[in-house]
Amino acid sequence: MLKGKTALVTGSTSGIGLGIALVLARQGANLVLNGFGDAEGPKAEVLAAGKAHGIKVGYHGADMSKPAEIEALMAYAASDFGGVDVLVNNAGIQHVAPVEDFPVARWDAIIAINLSSAFHTTRLAIPGMRRKAWGRVVNIASAHGLVASANKSAYVAAKHGIVGFTKSVALETATSGITANAICPGWVLTPLVQKQIDDRAAREGIPVAQAEKDLLGEKQPSLRFTTPEQLGELAAFLCSAAGGNVTGQAWAVDGGWTAQ
Ligand code: NAD
Repeated sequence: MLKGKTALVTGSTSGIGLGIALVLARQGANLVLNGFGDAEGPKAEVLAAGKAHGIKVGYHGADMSKPAEIEALMAYAASDFGGVDVLVNNAGIQHVAPVEDFPVARWDAIIAINLSSAFHTTRLAIPGMRRKAWGRVVNIASAHGLVASANKSAYVAAKHGIVGFTKSVALETATSGITANAICPGWVLTPLVQKQIDDRAAREGIPVAQAEKDLLGEKQPSLRFTTPEQLGELAAFLCSAAGGNVTGQAWAVDGGWTAQ
């Protein structure tokens, strides 16, 4: 379905980003991976997922909090892959603290990585998408792009921001063959959430399994985690012909979290 297209997934060495990259590879897309930590393992996994289609997989280690490094990442995608057809803005971090104690450097980092990086990749990807009269922008927001929780002010601000940004990009590109949508997951069991579970278990002096149960019970009525694979399948739908007139939407995949 995506043979001949190139997808860039930011923050794809782990968690949701890697899950989305694997599904897009299975659809035949070439992949540009990004993120910290080991890149060789994820690269091999994605290459294997797209083996039947003979896909090409590259990696660029840009720090998504740094606009100059994002420019280098986009230049790499242009020179080695002919540009980005599917842009998945996924890189993100979390920090939990009351607003009056929130470390200023953490606030700045969350806004830079979870919000501003999507502005930079999008502004650099749109001209190429316009030339090809086809493009898909998929922003990984959160249930926290639609509703808030206490002690996550920077994250909630960034995620509400990216939902708004998605709508503006959708309107600006509405007649150009480009769509822009946000995906708003509830809890997904990735390293980002495992840390919150472990912190909760330590804080409350309870077993990790109990902390996991409590975390789900508090917000997610299905009492089940969404999987990276499920989010990848939604991204693939947004890239499909069926998704061609779906733009400017925030897709909650949250087991009922935001229905409450
Ligand atoms: P994760 O920690 O497993 O993965 C985050 C990825 O981003 C990693 O590849 C990491 O290396 C990369 N990254 C972090 N800082 C970076 C930087 N400065 N530059 C480049 N890459 C960087 O987390 P995840 O849960 O897979 O989160 C992915 C996205 O999904 C985030 O935007 C997060 O806010 C969002 N999200 C997660 C959940 C959840 O429950 N896990 C729910 C809603 C939204």
